[in-house]
Amino acid sequence: KPLVFSGVQPTGNLHLGNYLGAIRKFVALQESHDCIYCVVDLHAITAQLVHDDLAGHTRAITAAFLASGIDPKAHIVFNQSRVSGHAELAWIFNCVARIGWMNRMTQFKDKAGKDRENASLGLLAYPSLMAADILVYRATHVPVGDDQKQHLELTRDIAQKFNIDFSQRIAETGLGVDMLVGEERVNGYFPLTEPLIGGPAPRVMSLRDGTKKMSKSDVSDLSRINLTDDADTIAKKIRKAKTDPEPLPGDVEGLEGRAEADNLVGIYAALSDTTREAVISEFAGQQFSAFKPALTELAVSVMSPINDEMRRLLESPDHIDDVLRDGGERAAEIAGQTMKDVKDIIGLLR
Ligand code: ATP
Ligand code: MG
Repeated sequence: KPLVFSGVQPTGNLHLGNYLGAIRKFVALQESHDCIYCVVDLHAITAQLVHDDLAGHTRAITAAFLASGIDPKAHIVFNQSRVSGHAELAWIFNCVARIGWMNRMTQFKDKAGKDRENASLGLLAYPSLMAADILVYRATHVPVGDDQKQHLELTRDIAQKFNIDFSQRIAETGLGVDMLVGEERVNGYFPLTEPLIGGPAPRVMSLRDGTKKMSKSDVSDLSRINLTDDADTIAKKIRKAKTDPEPLPGDVEGLEGRAEADNLVGIYAALSDTTREAVISEFAGQQFSAFKPALTELAVSVMSPINDEMRRLLESPDHIDDVLRDGGERAAEIAGQTMKDVKDIIGLLR
C-alpha cells in the first residue's frame, strides 16, 4: 500500500478549512493507504514560541482526528516532538535546501509580516522541517489544503537535490530504490512526494474576507467556523458571512469574480460530498437568505457529531495520551531506520 503522511499544527481551534482541506481526506485515505497522521507541535512554536496550553491543543487535535474517524490502531497517530527523527532530518535538510528557496515561500512572507528580520529562524526553516516530517517515513502521498502546495514542491526539490548530491553514495550503499522521475528511471533514496489537494473546497476562505484563507491564527473568530462551535454559533457566523447582493448564478461560470459566493458554494459541495455544479443546479437563482440556512443546517449536521465525540474524548485524556504514546513508538521505529540509512549515505559515523 502507498504511504500517506500529513500533519496539523496545535496552534488553536480547528476550523472548517482544516476539516475539509485535510482531516476529511485523512479519513477517506485509510481504506487504500497506510497512513501516518501527526500533530506537528514543533511547527507550532515557529510563529509563536510561548503558548498558553500547547499540551491541551495537542490533545484537542488528536481528539478531532479520532472523532472524525481516524483509526489509530490500523494507522499511526502521534505528536511530532516525540520522534527525534523529524528534527534530526530537518537539520540535514537545512543543509540541503538553499536560503533562496525559503525566502520565496509565501507562507513565510505572510506569517513574518513586515518585520522579516525579526521572524524566528524556525519560521524561515518551517518547510525544511515539513519535508523531514514527510520524508523521514519516505511517504509518497500527502493530503493537504491548497495553501501547502508550495511547501510540497519544495519537499520534492529537497528530495531531488539529496538524491542527486548523494547519488554516488546511494549507489555504493545499495540503499536506493528505482523510481520514475518524469519519463526517466533513476535510483534515489527519497521519493518525490505527490500532494493530494483536489475536491470542491481545497482552499476554504475567511467568512469575512473572500481573498484570505480561513486560518486558526486569524484574530477574528467570525472569520472561521470552529470544529467546536455549537449550532447557534455556526448559524450566527454563516448569517454574518460576507456576500454580494446578487442571487446565486445559474452555472458555476457565474461564480467567477464572486469570491465569497464561490467559497460558500464550495463549502456546501464539500460538506455534502458532491460537486459545485450539483450545488449550483440545486440553488440556481436563489438568494443567500435561502442558501445560508440550508448551509447552516448541513454544517451543523456534519460537525455536531464530531464535536460531541471530541468533547467526550477530552473528558478523560488518558485514552488520547495512550494513542499518542503508542503511535509515537511505532513512528519512531520507521523514522529510526531512515536516519540510519541517511547517516550511512552521508558518511556520519553511528
Ligand atoms: P495556522 O494559521 O496556525 O497556520 P492553519 O489553519 O493554517 O493554522 P495548519 O495546521 O497550518 O492550519 O494546517 C493544517 C492543514 O489544514 C493543512 O493541510 C492545511 O493545508 C489545511 N488548511 C489550513 N487552512 C485551510 C483552508 N483555509 N482551506 C483548506 N485547507 C486548509
Ligand atoms: Mg497553516
